[in-house]
Amino acid sequence: MRDGVQVKPGSSVDLGNFSADAKLGLEDKEIAQAATTRLGQRLADLGAMLAANHTRALLVVIQGMDASGKDGTVRHCIGPLNPMGVGVTSFKAPTHVELGHDFLWRVHAACPARGQVGIFNRSHYEDVLVVRVENLAPQDVWSRRYDAINAFERHLVDEGTIIVKCWLNMSKDEQAVQMRERLEDPKKNWKFNPDDLEKRKKWDEYMEAYRVMLEKTSTDWAPWHVIPADRKWVRNLVVSELLVDALEGLDMTWPGLDPALRKTKVV
Ligand code: AMP
Ligand code: MG
Repeated sequence: MRDGVQVKPGSSVDLGNFSADAKLGLEDKEIAQAATTRLGQRLADLGAMLAANHTRALLVVIQGMDASGKDGTVRHCIGPLNPMGVGVTSFKAPTHVELGHDFLWRVHAACPARGQVGIFNRSHYEDVLVVRVENLAPQDVWSRRYDAINAFERHLVDEGTIIVKCWLNMSKDEQAVQMRERLEDPKKNWKFNPDDLEKRKKWDEYMEAYRVMLEKTSTDWAPWHVIPADRKWVRNLVVSELLVDALEGLDMTWPGLDPALRKTKVV
């Protein structure tokens, strides 16, 4: 993992220390893209091994402001994996039924089974982000959720899931560029949502909510990573590296043939 990406558990967070257009030592776009492609091939192998062993799971949590590149990160970084082993959940505003349960109910149900990779495009963190900024629940409700999230993630990890959490750190200026593209590019018009402009007006409040999230929920068992997101090629390489590192950390091997089958002949 690159220096300056992980939020040290227990540390206080100053977003001024993270630059959205950082290159983290990467200088050449073409070289970085080639490295991302190679990491994708490695990730595909590791994902196949994860499925073959069927003991552990990988959960990737992607958070970021509107137009920060969450969908593109899934496409570029998760794309190389065999779709049979991957589940992507894009969390929207909770339905009536979901609101009838605790906030983690729908989240737990979407967590990856052993052998699988689960991607959260938005996540349970919306319950301390949009819910906090837009006053969708009282403060005494959302303020208890940081501890609940830490305990929930601890439980998942204890049961064999590894969690990689990425906050796509995009600048306000770059968000404007991306939003204008959504207005102007016919292929992107469908992504334009006027509600996003309302959230943009509350940029500073969202940044404060993200800051507190990073501070309170970067844990030893599930730390946050701040991904510079103004340059897509930096973002893709850094996220790909994190995913490969996480799976390599499992020290997996291919499951061998059952000893009872060693003398089996195919006729
Ligand atoms: P999008 O990601 O553009 O498809 O938009 C999904 C919307 O659902 C975003 O505006 C999120 O803020 C919203 N959303 C996701 N989870 C929650 C939640 N737990 N409570 C309220 N809104 C949410
Ligand atoms: Mg949107």
